[in-house]
Amino acid sequence: MNKEKHTASFLKSVTLNSRAWSIWWNLCPGLFLSSLLHSASAALSLYTAVWLSARMITELAGSPSPSGIIGLALAQVLSAASFSLLNAVLERFKTFYSDSASCLYHRIYMDKLFSMDFALLDSQDTYSLYSQIIQNDTWSSLGIHETVSLFESFTAACARILGGIILTAPLFISPVPPGSGNLSLLNHPLCACFLIGLMLLIALFSSFCADKSQGYWIRYASKTRFGNRMADFYISAAKDRKRALDMRIYNQSEAITKLYMEGNTPFGPSSEIARCAKGPMGIWAALSQSVSVVLTVIVYLFVCLKAWAGAFGLGSTVLYTAAIANLFLGISQLSGALGRMAANGRFLEMAFGFLDIPNIMYQGTLTTEKRSDGQYEIEFRNVSFCYPGTQDYALRHINMKFPIGSRLAIVGANGSGKTTFIKLLCRLYDPTEGEILLNGIDIRKYRYSDYIGLFSVVFQDFRLFSLPLGENIAGSCLFDSFKASSCLEKAGFSRQKALFPHGLSAFLYRDLDGCGAELSLGEAQKTAIARALYKDAPFMILDEPTAALDPISEAEIYEKFGTITRGKTAVCISHRLSSCIFCDEVAVFDKGNLVQQGSHEQLLKSPQGKYYELWHAQAQYYYPENA
Ligand code: ADP
Repeated sequence: MNKEKHTASFLKSVTLNSRAWSIWWNLCPGLFLSSLLHSASAALSLYTAVWLSARMITELAGSPSPSGIIGLALAQVLSAASFSLLNAVLERFKTFYSDSASCLYHRIYMDKLFSMDFALLDSQDTYSLYSQIIQNDTWSSLGIHETVSLFESFTAACARILGGIILTAPLFISPVPPGSGNLSLLNHPLCACFLIGLMLLIALFSSFCADKSQGYWIRYASKTRFGNRMADFYISAAKDRKRALDMRIYNQSEAITKLYMEGNTPFGPSSEIARCAKGPMGIWAALSQSVSVVLTVIVYLFVCLKAWAGAFGLGSTVLYTAAIANLFLGISQLSGALGRMAANGRFLEMAFGFLDIPNIMYQGTLTTEKRSDGQYEIEFRNVSFCYPGTQDYALRHINMKFPIGSRLAIVGANGSGKTTFIKLLCRLYDPTEGEILLNGIDIRKYRYSDYIGLFSVVFQDFRLFSLPLGENIAGSCLFDSFKASSCLEKAGFSRQKALFPHGLSAFLYRDLDGCGAELSLGEAQKTAIARALYKDAPFMILDEPTAALDPISEAEIYEKFGTITRGKTAVCISHRLSSCIFCDEVAVFDKGNLVQQGSHEQLLKSPQGKYYELWHAQAQYYYPENA
């Protein structure tokens, strides 16, 4: 029963491994060729040296002729020199491709992350699975990465085995001459079969021991998951300049020391893994090595007995012992690689489990007409929404139309559903109930890339990239400098321009360039607004656009609000209700419901309304007489 299960999972590992290889083949075919060539050349150089040494010994042990010896010595020197040259070149060739594979490895996941539905990307299950995959890779390259080194091990083992078989075949067929007494038994076919069987058995046992040792390592991959996450977090936090202040003030170095030094933490000196490394893990590894020595002794004995009985001379004795030792090494390398492949199956399953997560959002094919008049009308029709995995409605029965070219302010207390409303508008999620229409057609029916192209958004927690200013604004390495500068001006960035001696080519932040400009939150926010302007989409969405700005810059943004949003339909979420004055309409959210809609003046006229309450709650600090 167990055996069946083991076989099935082994077969599955083979299938998964082949799938990983086919991914590598598409990404980096040179990986396979370089590995094959390197393994073949390494085995050829090894066996050529063994063969030439054996020939030399045969020559010396017989009646040596100076020309024969010189010829062999020359051949030895020349082959050693040319093979070491060739091996060095091929080693570089192989290293180049395995290094490229390490970079390309991330692309496999990047492509998936970029093409995944946002709702899936945002889910905790996806995050946990992905971080587990990355940790397995960091822990011991387990998963798709491991299949690169597995291929290298397979090719090296096969080349070694093939060379060993070719050189050792005569050992079993060279007969002991008649009249050798009991040693004639060595001619019996059973004797060769017994030796070959024993070799295989010991090789398998040796690799079984190696697997056992390796198995502990793999087992701890899941046990140390949390510790690994903590270590990753602290390592990146320690390098992060933005966190340096908090790390120091709240004395996080103590927590790091605790993580690495205390016995009960995963990496402490008396942790479970440390104890295992000193105990069973080491014992199995030692056992694996020592059984190899037993085999070498048996093989030496067999070869020496045959030589003693006169089956072959001294040179062949050297040849066979060396070739058999290498053949055995190849076999145990191969069975080790097979064991690693079986163990890696579980991690490949996880990796493909992630890569195979299907997108669930309907992908339409309609194109959004490229209207020069920007006449796009959006309507929310009875839209309700629950975040995946939750029962609570973040939005309930929302009905709203965006009049073309109007400026809409969205206000409401924290958690009232404002950002969720924007996320649905941008189709990061699909409504749980109801529909959103663009010019009368359900937005699900449009091609997603076309639809998302209609929006320029500055999210509340926007991120700029550590790239040159111009590239940040354009979202591309190719940008129109004039347009980028004018967007910066419009966003009120002109006063900060002195910060950038290299203009639009100046790097932001110091992650990639030591001289990169560190932006204040306000400067970053203006840059993000410039980025949204550069996109020049018909809808402009600003989520808390002035949250990080000082009062002067804030006033400046609102003064320019008309210019920033000219010709566009604008949606602006803000806690500063004063921003509503600049908008044509205000939508008031409360606990996921749209409770009021109208102009600022109209809404202020109803003292029972939520807007009135919010407005006066803020106004009392500015105009205490109004409180
Ligand atoms: P606002 O922008 O008005 O502060 P949000 O739209 O961010 O409010 O949140 C509305 C509700 O949805 C809140 O109760 C919040 O906790 C919940 N919520 C927001 N994001 C998520 C999420 N990714 N998963 C589950 N619930 C969420």
